[in-house]
Amino acid sequence: MVRAVYPGTFDPTTNGHMDVIRRASALFDEVIVGVLCNSQKSPLFSVEERVNILKEVTKDLPNIQVRSFEGLSVDFVKDCDAQIILRGLRAITDFEFELQMAQTNRVLAPHIDTMFLTTSLEYAYLSSTTVKEVAMFGEDISKFVPPYVAEKLNEKMKNVR
Ligand code: ADP
Repeated sequence: MVRAVYPGTFDPTTNGHMDVIRRASALFDEVIVGVLCNSQKSPLFSVEERVNILKEVTKDLPNIQVRSFEGLSVDFVKDCDAQIILRGLRAITDFEFELQMAQTNRVLAPHIDTMFLTTSLEYAYLSSTTVKEVAMFGEDISKFVPPYVAEKLNEKMKNVR
């Protein structure tokens, strides 16, 4: 059985993340989406909110689980008894950082491999940061995120604005 972990911040989940999750769900027996609880970043959504959003938007995919984690991705992957770290590659700008991470993780845990899914072209420009910026100015974000995320993001922005 091949189990992959897809780690990230997911603040919030975009259609780009969903594309990777759907494709991974067809490729691996099990996929655990790992939501990073990073005390050095100050995300808009709490880790519980990000986990709940992901659970809701992946509920039609039976082999997807969502869990939060703290610390190093490789330790979480070991904890999940998984063999693969899955990451998305949007553009060449992602490449250098991702390569460095993958090679560091390889030294830390040689039995765990990093695999990349290249983004579908229609989502290549999408990032959680730009979606939050657009939402902050009250613009329509329905093309960027699943409807449930749009609802939660618009609610959140009402309180932030
Ligand atoms: P991180 O802080 O770990 O980069 P993100 O939530 O921004 O967390 O991203 C998690 C993973 O999803 C990363 O591998 C990232 O490259 C990938 N990703 C982000 N946006 C997209 C997108 N639009 N299409 C495909 N993959 C994406």
